[in-house]
Amino acid sequence: MAILDGCEAQKRTPVPKEIKCPKCGEWMEVFAKEDKSIENVKCEKCGYEVHEGDPV
Ligand SMILES: [Zn+2]
Repeated sequence: MAILDGCEAQKRTPVPKEIKCPKCGEWMEVFAKEDKSIENVKCEKCGYEVHEGDPV
């Protein structure tokens, strides 16, 4: 069976995700893998931080 599974491949690759800052509502881009952030990202507006491993 040689069926290419795009969904499976995407699960293993970090994908950029647009999330809304829970504090001020500003949009920020976070790289995530399996719905978890893989980096620390700071909101430019209010300073709120998304940490590595946080669900996004
Ligand atoms: Zn913010």
